[in-house]
Amino acid sequence: MRVSQLTKSCRVGVTVALAMLAVLASCSSDLGPAPSSQVSAESTVFSPGITTVVLEVGYASGAVPHAEPSAMDGKTVWNLFKRNISEVLPGDKRLESPLTLQEMRELPDVTGTSFTQAQILEIARTHRTRTSDKTTIAYYALWLPGILNDGTRDRDDVLGVNFRDTTVIAMFKPVLEGNAEESEHDRVAKFAEQSVLIHELGHAMGLVNKTIPLTSSHHDSPHGAHCTNQDCLMYYANEESRDSLTSYIKRMVTDPNALLWGPECLRDFEGVRPKGSPPPIPYDGGVVPAAGMGMHDGGMGDGGMRDGGMHDGGMRDGGMRDGGR
Ligand SMILES: [Zn+2]
Ligand SMILES: [Zn+2]
Repeated sequence: MRVSQLTKSCRVGVTVALAMLAVLASCSSDLGPAPSSQVSAESTVFSPGITTVVLEVGYASGAVPHAEPSAMDGKTVWNLFKRNISEVLPGDKRLESPLTLQEMRELPDVTGTSFTQAQILEIARTHRTRTSDKTTIAYYALWLPGILNDGTRDRDDVLGVNFRDTTVIAMFKPVLEGNAEESEHDRVAKFAEQSVLIHELGHAMGLVNKTIPLTSSHHDSPHGAHCTNQDCLMYYANEESRDSLTSYIKRMVTDPNALLWGPECLRDFEGVRPKGSPPPIPYDGGVVPAAGMGMHDGGMGDGGMRDGGMHDGGMRDGGMRDGGR
């Protein structure tokens, strides 16, 4: 553990009562060096040569992501991810991310009750199909049926993690599912997954003050790579306290197209937009799943889907992306 370099940038927990040292020492993003084979996307996602940004999703059979229609408007909750990531990507980049379960890949062989960083990276390595190259950055989000083992102990407080210098995000289903009061369970659980995923991708892309330079003084450095704005998704307590995340979702996700970045983080994203590149194209899709979509289809698991769904689903509204402005 490199204490001098500790950040909590990628740790998303629900426990606030930890002593500071314990909090720092538990930073999931610092669980040892990243394997050299992992592509670092942080410094390149905004570079002009990158034309395509991919989020590939795999899930253990015991950890199916929420992808059902939102009760608010009947649209799949994954619109929230597209909405928030589209808001920060320069307009000449194409986002490919799933909207329905059919566009994600079931991994029947992934089982367990706790997972170390090495195990998670190995699962990602063997199951991900999209790779980064000169024009594409591919992120991989993995829904797991267990909790994180940080090398010392099992962590029932960590909701999700993006390991430092990797494009891998792990989502811990038992913790995510536990993060809601009974009466609000469905709504909060769906948007908790979306919120944590967007937060982790924010870190993977370089927030706060990692590879994306600050444009104002909103870096909550005592809490790692987080934002001082309590209404911003990158605020640490929104993610480190069960109550805070629930209350954040109730307060901020009143609309399934809610913008979860605060203005300070949005300006930071603007700051790294290459000169001459078009501004982000707001996502106004809001796709309503066809009948039967979004249901868990146990047969989808092994391969097969990769060439269909992901690409189609990823286009922002019929080619707007390529020439809109
Ligand atoms: Zn964080
Ligand atoms: Zn912020």
